[in-house]
Parts: sequence; C-alpha cells; structure tokens
Amino acid sequence: MNQSSAGHLLRLIRTGRATTRGELQRVTGLSRSTVGGRLEQLFRAGWVKESAGDPVEAPTGGRPAVRLHFDTTHAVVLCADLETRHARAAVLDLGGTVLAEHSGALLISQGPEEVLQRLGQWFALLVEKAGVSVDAVCGIGLAVPGPVDAGLGQVVQPPMMPGWDRHPIAETMRAAFAAQVGEAGAAIPVLVENDANLMAYAEQRHGFPDCSAFLLVKVSTGIGAGVVVDGEMYRGFDGAAGDIGHIRLSDHPRALCRCGSYGCLAAVASGRAIAEQLTAAGIPTTSGSGVRDQLTIGQPDAVRLAREAGRLVGGVLATVVTLLNPGVLMVAGDLAGPSFLTGVRELLYQRAMPRTTAYLQVVTSRLGERAGLTGAAAMVVESLYAPDRADQRLNELD
Ligand SMILES: [Zn+2]
Repeated sequence: MNQSSAGHLLRLIRTGRATTRGELQRVTGLSRSTVGGRLEQLFRAGWVKESAGDPVEAPTGGRPAVRLHFDTTHAVVLCADLETRHARAAVLDLGGTVLAEHSGALLISQGPEEVLQRLGQWFALLVEKAGVSVDAVCGIGLAVPGPVDAGLGQVVQPPMMPGWDRHPIAETMRAAFAAQVGEAGAAIPVLVENDANLMAYAEQRHGFPDCSAFLLVKVSTGIGAGVVVDGEMYRGFDGAAGDIGHIRLSDHPRALCRCGSYGCLAAVASGRAIAEQLTAAGIPTTSGSGVRDQLTIGQPDAVRLAREAGRLVGGVLATVVTLLNPGVLMVAGDLAGPSFLTGVRELLYQRAMPRTTAYLQVVTSRLGERAGLTGAAAMVVESLYAPDRADQRLNELD
C-alpha cells in the first residue's frame, strides 16, 4: 500500500504529526504539487478543512501557516451501549460529541431480532432529533455485554446474552435501520465490540492518553474487563480476553452462575449477585442499576455487600494486575463507588506484589455512563478513517 496516499496524509493530520502543507511535504518527502493533489481529494470529500494559523507561528513576519484539520462535523456515527436490561443510544460527530441521545429499557434477553429492531427505531428517531441526514451516517458502533469475535463481528458464547451466539448482528442491524429510513441505511458499516473493551478504549484516550498499559474493570449486572495496550484494545486470540467474571473462586462451590458453572466471580460479586442477596433480605432489587440506587442512599446491607464484592474482585485483580502490570486500574460500572473500591484495594494490595502496584493508579470512571458510547464512536471513526480504508472510501466518492 502507498505510504503517501491521501489516507496516510489524513492520518498525519488527524494525529497532529503534520498539520500544514510544509510539514506534510517534510514528513512524506512528497513534492508540493503531489501533497496539493492529495489534499484536494480530502477537501472534495469534506474530510479536511483549512484555517488560518496564529500569526505568532510566523515570527519572521511571513504569512502565518494555514493549518489543516480533520473536519469532525462532516459525518456522524450512530452508537448504542447495550446493557442486560437497558440501553443507551446516540448520534455523535466524528470527534465524539453527542448530538442526540436516548436511553431506555431494552432487555437483551429478548434476543437479537427484537433488540436490534428497537434499536433501528431509536436510531431513526435520533437522526431526526439531531437534525442530520441519513446520508451523513458513516457507521454504526455497538457495545455489547459479551465476548465478541471482532473479525466475525459476532458475539460468541455469551453467558448474559441468550439467543445471540454467532448471530449476524451487522446484517440484522442494517436491515432494522433500513426498515426505518429506507435504502440509505442498508449499506452502513456496523462494528460490534465488547462493552468493557470499548469503555477502556474511551477512558484511556480521554483521560490517560500517555498510559501504555490500561486496565478497566466494569462491575454492573455482570463483571468484565477491558485492556488497552499502546493505545489499542487488547482482545486476545479470538476476542475472549478480559471475561474475568467467570473465573472460579474455590471457596464458593454452591454459587450458581448464569453461565451454568458454580463458583464464578460474577455469581458472588456482581450487581446481579448483590441484587439477589438484597432481595432475599427483603429489599427488592433487580439489577446492577438497582444496587447502585441502594448504594446511593447508603442502604447498609448494600454497602456491606458491595465492600465484600470489592474484596472478591480485588483478589482476582491481584492476579490480573501481576500479569499485565497496568499503570492505571479503572473501576467502572454500577458498583464503582467508595465501598466497592475500598474492598478492591484491601485485597489487591494484600495479594499483589508491591513491585506491580507501586505506581498503579486505582481510579473511577471519568466518562461515566457515556464511556461505552464514546468508545464505540471512536472505534468506528478509527476503522473508517484508517489509511487503507480511507483511500478505498475516497476512491468510491470520486
Ligand atoms: Zn460464570
């Protein structure tokens, strides 16, 4: 592939490595006219725009350099973050700014056909609400609470998503959106990724861009982890990395998990497990968000159970942290409050080697409930505007 194509120039502009014509020539070694020709292609597509630079940048009195920018408003992405019992969907610009948003009840257990039909309706309404044209939608990104084989774009053996195993999510999503908005929706690329991976991706880019080893643990109704190494999601060999909720704890042999096994971490320390214990104690609670509500009002049983759950998760994280040596461990999701975090710290520091935790920052989410959406949008943009894909799309436009 041509290392100096329009797509490669776009990457230099987007990453800030070269943001003037002169810098592009220096970095690529291309002639002035070749750079000009490539930029013409990017201008025609509406992907890059020019703006006058600050005069301070030209101290010798010459003309200020004209800066090149990626135009994050020339298209939009549709994203959804699917939880077990509710979902959040949004229209975002290419810089990750939310233009319109909707959240509501949506049971993942109803299966892909029904859930994605509903999502198609939500997306159509959101496009209207944001005041954008369907033609401006360049991609759809979905965050799901299960292991995803990114190559196939399919959920594989998900413990919490009955009926979704190996379902062709992209095809069903496209059809559902097209049913609402017409043929323009039928060709839109759809990318699917695990929710904890996307949250980790978004949080690392947003708050810890210099951290080369970033670990996020999501504890809501279920438990999952996402790892970002050198700015890239670490998915493992076939997308199963990070599913720590189903690590077995030897001292809880009777706790039945949703996956069918006994003694999983999620069977004793997830939002679902705490909700069941609270319900048994006479405080009816349905899911992770219900537990969060109880924690918010300081319900004593919820606080005690969250701290104990934190200890159990912290014990497992001692192993994870020893293996990965992350610079940041972020605890996110419905349970990520002071009680849970206290429990995590207790066992983590007790069980992990001091060498691995000496510089470890243990933090909570910066992006909150939008982390999954933001990560999904970033995934779609990075995929569609990567050099080779960008060149292919530019050729189709010309
Ligand atoms: Zn399990």
